[in-house]
This record gives sequence, C-alpha cells and structure tokens, in this order.
Amino acid sequence: MVSKNSSRGVRQPMSLKYMDEFRDGGLARRILTKLKKQCSGRAPMRFMEICGTHTVAVFRSGLRPLLPSSLELISGPGCPVCVTASEDIDKAIWFASQPHVLVATFGDLLRVPGSRASLAQERAQGADVRMVYSAMDAVELAQENHDKEVVFIGIGFETTAPTVAAAVTHAERLGLKNFSVFSVHKVLPPAMEALLSSGDLRLDGFLCPGHVTTVIGAKAYEALAARYHMPCVITGFEPLDILHGLWMLIQQRFSGTARVEIQYRRGVTWEGNVAAQRLMAQVFRPADAVWRGLGRIPLSGLAFRDEWVRFDATQKFQVPQLDSREDPGCRCGDVLRGVLSPPQCPLFRKVCTPQSPKGPCMVSSEGTCGAYFKYAYDGPNLEEEEKY
Ligand code: SF4
Repeated sequence: MVSKNSSRGVRQPMSLKYMDEFRDGGLARRILTKLKKQCSGRAPMRFMEICGTHTVAVFRSGLRPLLPSSLELISGPGCPVCVTASEDIDKAIWFASQPHVLVATFGDLLRVPGSRASLAQERAQGADVRMVYSAMDAVELAQENHDKEVVFIGIGFETTAPTVAAAVTHAERLGLKNFSVFSVHKVLPPAMEALLSSGDLRLDGFLCPGHVTTVIGAKAYEALAARYHMPCVITGFEPLDILHGLWMLIQQRFSGTARVEIQYRRGVTWEGNVAAQRLMAQVFRPADAVWRGLGRIPLSGLAFRDEWVRFDATQKFQVPQLDSREDPGCRCGDVLRGVLSPPQCPLFRKVCTPQSPKGPCMVSSEGTCGAYFKYAYDGPNLEEEEKY
C-alpha cells in the first residue's frame, strides 16, 4: 500500500488522483482486511485524531465500526469553537452589549452557550451580531459602518490566523479606525503536548491535523514525537487517506519507531506555508491561552504584537472581570481531552441536542458530540443531519 520512501524517512502516499479514487470501496475493503490481519492477536491501540474535521470525516464515511476491534480512535481538542472557553464567549457577548459596537464572527460560534447566554440569544435581544464567512467580510462591515466599531471575534487555529492577519494588514492599508479583533486564536502543538504531559491519556499515536499542517509544516511535530516517543502521521480527509494514515501509524507502532510522517502529501510539506507563517508572525506573537477542558496552556494562543495593538479589541475596550462559569452538567472538557465519549455524558441526546445544545461540542460542525449525534448513536441519523 505504501512505497518506501524519500527524504526524512517519510513514505510516499498512494498515487491517487481523483476524488472517487479516494473513496474506492473495493480498495478500502482490501486495506481493512489487511489492517484486521495485522492487528489480530496484538495489544489494543489507541490513536487520537486531533482535528475536528477528521472526527467528522471518520463518522461520515462510516469507517469507525469497520475498524479492527483492537484499534480505538478517540477525538481530540481540534475543534476551534469547542476549545473556546466560556469566559471568551462571555467576553464576545460583552463586546456585543456595548453601544455602537457590531460584533462579527463565524456561524458556529453564534449558538455556543456562554455562562448565561449565546451570541445568537443576545442578537435576538437587539445586539448587533453578524455572521461572516471570513475576517475580510468583517473589514468590509467596518468600511460600510463608520458609525460603529466592528469587533471581529477571531477564533481558529493556524489555518485561520493567517487570514485574520491578512485582514488586519488590509484594514491598516485602508486606514480603518473602527475595526478590531478579539483574538482567541490557538495553536495546536502546545495543546498536544499538554495532553501528553498530563498523563491522563494512554495514546499510541496522533493522526495530525491536515489543514493546520499545510500552514505550520510537518516539522512542527518533530520535537513532540521525539520527546514522547509518539508516532505522528499527518493525514488527509478522504476515507482512504484516513485508512492509509492509520496503516502508517500501525506500522510505526509495530516497528517501535516514533517519527513524523506525511500521508497528506498533496497538501502538506515539511516546511509548511512559509508565506502564511510570516504573515501570522508579522501581526501576532505567541501568548498563553485558556482552552476549554485543558485550562491555561503556555504559548498556545496568539496575541497582537505591539506594532499592531491598535487592532486589539481588548486594548480598545476595558473588558471587566466577568463571572464566567461552564454548565456544570456539560462534559465537553472531558470529551476534548479524550477521556470521555459523548454517549457517556448524562446530558447527551436527553437534554443536549443540536437544537438545544448545552456545550460547544454539540453545536460546532466539527464537534465530537454533534458527530456522535448525527452519525453514531443508534446508527446514522440522516433526518437530523438534514435539519442541521
Ligand atoms: S453531550 Fe452536550 S452536555 Fe454533554 S459534553 Fe457534549 S455538548 Fe456537553
């Protein structure tokens, strides 16, 4: 299935060219048969898919029940909406409550409950909250609404942060004075390290995030793989990508190696997107950040550099100390640390549904609870999927 390889011990990916080839059922069945044969009689293995898009892709493609029973896949903290702490949602709501402020953010965040309400509920009460598809849309809103301060709630990982940096530099070129960003961006490798160093989790390898790694490059996991002797494979999002990634992780486990390999070679390089990295570093600097479920992780967030601080919403406004708390019944924190699966949460599907979410993992399109609700619990729920 894999050919041996090229530079840095990385194996070549399968030479598939078209979308339907990545979904070839016959090939998938042959790989699954091989996987089962290889895993038979071996100790159980647990791999974590870091990225929320992987979580959803595994469910959507129906792979999960087909995998060998000794191979367990658990979801990690790779959904940017899900890892946003309640206190940050509360701050976003506080911005929206200020006079002459227009809050703009991505759709998934609108319905995430904060301590007392969500942005969508605030909007229903009259706050000016708009859904945008990009940070550039928020800049346009600032151009069209000179009487308002447009605060863009910047959530996302290394895939999103460069686009926000580009929007900030664009706003600078336009001379906009009424545009700012509440930066709740996060970077993934420190969170992966926090998971491993916590000792809460027994893991045999990471399916590393494909999209994030197109920006940061595979080299970003090298220290992690070496320090924790943890196999890392950067994987694409099609069913055969995921099977191939699992195959590569298993080969590493069986051979006792722990290195970084790229399965998703059509999108990922060792160095990543250097231009995007430069743009991100031009505007942002590493800063500590609070993650839902993982707490404060050193240098896992992005704050404005001094030269760009005029675009920092937290500098433009004096945000008071807010009395933030998370819903005591919601177990999103445990789900994000991979120590609880959604059906083990007492609220799952009873009082917590996509229509009435108690936590972000049920709201977000990349959330693990939402994915279990749609695809896994009692089988696929296509009717519900269509509704949401
Ligand atoms: S099922 Fe709902 S309440 Fe439970 S962890 Fe998931 S989002 Fe939170």
